[in-house]
Amino acid sequence: MLKKLDQIQNDALQALQSVTDEDALQTWRVAYTGRSSDLMQVFSGLGKLSKEDRPKVGQKANLVKVALESAYEEKLKLLKQTALERSLQEEHLDVTLPGRPASHGRLHPATQTLRRILAIMADMGFQVFTSNEVETDEYNFQFLNFPPDHPAREMQDSFYVEAGNRGDNPLLMRTHTSPGQIRAMRAAVQTNPDNPPPIRIVLPGMCFRFEQITARSEIQFNQIEGLAVGKNITFSDLKGTLSDFARRMFGQEARTRFRAQYFPFTEPSAEMDIECFVCSGKGCPVCKQTGWLEILGCGMVHPVVLQNGGYDPERYTGFAFGMGPERQAMLRYKIEDIRYFWGNDLRFLEQF
Ligand SMILES: [Zn+2]
Repeated sequence: MLKKLDQIQNDALQALQSVTDEDALQTWRVAYTGRSSDLMQVFSGLGKLSKEDRPKVGQKANLVKVALESAYEEKLKLLKQTALERSLQEEHLDVTLPGRPASHGRLHPATQTLRRILAIMADMGFQVFTSNEVETDEYNFQFLNFPPDHPAREMQDSFYVEAGNRGDNPLLMRTHTSPGQIRAMRAAVQTNPDNPPPIRIVLPGMCFRFEQITARSEIQFNQIEGLAVGKNITFSDLKGTLSDFARRMFGQEARTRFRAQYFPFTEPSAEMDIECFVCSGKGCPVCKQTGWLEILGCGMVHPVVLQNGGYDPERYTGFAFGMGPERQAMLRYKIEDIRYFWGNDLRFLEQF
């Protein structure tokens, strides 16, 4: 039996000499020290040996096992060393190659347009006022002159957050930035209830509508709302301010036109178009051959809305407007599908 153990050790070490890679080394390990190897058979057969032989054979088997294990470790070290040396020799590192540039992040095209609009409005004296994304039905609709069951609500299908026992005043994701108008007016009134100060603000932010997602409509989009309230503000102030905005945004040559429109929270209401900057008004696919591009909705703040904000409509007037940065970015960069904005595709985003 002792001889057999010597034989096992010799065979194993001999076989180890021809091992040249780690795969083969693992195979060798299983064959000579694994559960069904000859060596392990000796261990499991110890119980059948005589009392005298058992310690001798056991001791010897242990020595063989230790010898094979340390041979294995040594070989493994050697193989790793050889592999490293080979890779150092074969895979040269050329430190004179120019480095890879770190890639810079940048602003989303919708954010870029939004900030440009805000910067122009800031030059014109409008401060930024931010408001909640989750609103009550009162702020999102009722205070803005959309009573429950008003047909104009049909234009703004909503995501409701909580209805519960709230009756006519459930919580919803705001469908437009207009509820901020009421919040801004009420905040201003608190500073001086008898004689509230004039307001000139822009309200940027994300809005949400329960719509089918298509190339033209998304369930979330940015809006920028503007509000000016004060004494003796007239429709010509609205036209002057928005035409000036259009020239600053789209160039000094930008011509504008106002068309009558209906919104519940303004009266009278209008839609402002600018002359198509792609074809200069001659007609092209971008302006659908009309020569004009729809840019924003606007109007004089409805007396009911002023009242709900805490401003006496007998003493105060105001104008409001709303526009979409994504829509303006689509026109400017000829983006055909609004879904690109939130599709999170770097091939699209890296172009801006
Ligand atoms: Zn055109």
